[in-house]
Amino acid sequence: MVVTHRESTDESSGSAVTAGNSAYRWAHPGTLHLYVQSSSSLAGWSPHHLALVDEAVQAWMHCEGVRIEVVSWPVNADVRLYWTDRLPPTNPGITMLYRRASGRLTRADMFISVLPAPWNTGTPDRVLYATIAHELGHALGLPHDPSAGALMHPSPLVTEVTKLDMDRLHTLLQGP
Ligand SMILES: [Zn+2]
Repeated sequence: MVVTHRESTDESSGSAVTAGNSAYRWAHPGTLHLYVQSSSSLAGWSPHHLALVDEAVQAWMHCEGVRIEVVSWPVNADVRLYWTDRLPPTNPGITMLYRRASGRLTRADMFISVLPAPWNTGTPDRVLYATIAHELGHALGLPHDPSAGALMHPSPLVTEVTKLDMDRLHTLLQGP
């Protein structure tokens, strides 16, 4: 989950950055609409992947002020999640953020490896869940966290959204 920061110089027309280095807030308050690619022919994908996304959504919604609604079509979604087999095992998820000139987010695209990373921080199921929840944290605006006990650490040792992560998000949402 360590990603290279590639910042576009074009701030005027929906420039995209790779999530991780900076915190961002959404341009509009309120409910975020999440589209999840509902099936995939990639080897290793199963409907259980969708259950893991739902679990991550519920976990982050424990944070006050976070509302996420899953929608059936990508057109009007704020956040889109796609399954992939193109990412290296060392970097099983990536989130691209699109911003206004003001810096506020208008769109986030998450790409999640179908197969769990080969990490021993938990069972393969929990490692895959952690990747989904970590990238969803980026889509909500969180950067990487230096604390080893945070799910938003670049190489997290935990496989769940922790109180530390929730506090960081709460602080971000309360900010100016
Ligand atoms: Zn990350």
